[in-house]
Amino acid sequence: MSDLVTVQGAVLSAMPVGEYDRRIVLLTRERGKISAFAKGARRQNSPLLAAASPFVFGRFSLYEGRSSYTLQSVQVSRQFIGLASLHPGIYYGYYFAEIADYFGREGTDEKAMLNLLYAAFSALSRTGASHRLIRCAYELRAMTEQGMMPRLFACTACGRQPGQGERWFFSQEEHGLVCSSCARRFSGRLYPLSYTAVYTMQYIVSVPMEKLFAFCVSQEALRELEKCTFAYLAANTDRQFRSLPILEAVNQETASD
Ligand SMILES: [Zn+2]
Repeated sequence: MSDLVTVQGAVLSAMPVGEYDRRIVLLTRERGKISAFAKGARRQNSPLLAAASPFVFGRFSLYEGRSSYTLQSVQVSRQFIGLASLHPGIYYGYYFAEIADYFGREGTDEKAMLNLLYAAFSALSRTGASHRLIRCAYELRAMTEQGMMPRLFACTACGRQPGQGERWFFSQEEHGLVCSSCARRFSGRLYPLSYTAVYTMQYIVSVPMEKLFAFCVSQEALRELEKCTFAYLAANTDRQFRSLPILEAVNQETASD
C-alpha cells in the first residue's frame, strides 16, 4: 500500500509517456523538486489534462511509491493560461521553469523559488511588461535565492560604496563590483555599469518579492544589466539551458521585448 501525500507547488515540465500518460516535474514547498507519473493525463476527459501541465500552481495529491510518485488529483490555485498565447512570453516562461528545475533539489524547501517563479509568471502575463527586464530580475534573484548573491553594495577590492553619477564595473572573478580606481589593477574582463544599473542590481537582490518586478529602467541601463547578469548566470551554472537558444531565436525574429 502506498501513502497519499499532499504538497503545494508548481508544474515545471510535463513529458508525454506512452500513449496517454505524462511524467511531470514538480517544485514543491514540502519535498523540493520531485517527479510524478500522471496516469491518463493526456486523455481528453482526464481531470489531470489541464492540471498536469507547465505553469500550473496548486495542491497536488500524490501516492508515494518506493521510488516515485503517482499523481492522484490537483487542486489548481493559479494556472497561467494566458501565458501560453503570449509570444515570446511563453518562451520566457519555459526558460524560467528550466532554471527553477536546474536549481531544484529533492528534499529541500523551495518556497522562495516557488514565490519567485509565481511572481515572474505574473509579471510576464502583464500587458506592456518588459520581458527582457523580467528575465534579468529573475536570473539575478534566482542566483541570490540559491546563495550566489554577488557583492553589489561596495567595491570588492577597497570596500568603497557606489556613489551617484559614478561609473562602476562588475567582475565575474570577484563575484561583484569593482570601483573605477581599483578597476585599473584588474586584468580579467570587467563589465561597465552606470550608477543606475548598479542601483537596479541592488534593488533586485534585496527588495521584497512582491516589489521585484514593479520597476522600469532606461534601455541603456537594461543593456548593461543584461550583459552582466547573463554572464554571471553562465559563469555560475554548468548546463546549457535547452530553452535559451529557442528564446533567443524567437526574440531575434520578433525583434521586440
Ligand atoms: Zn575599489
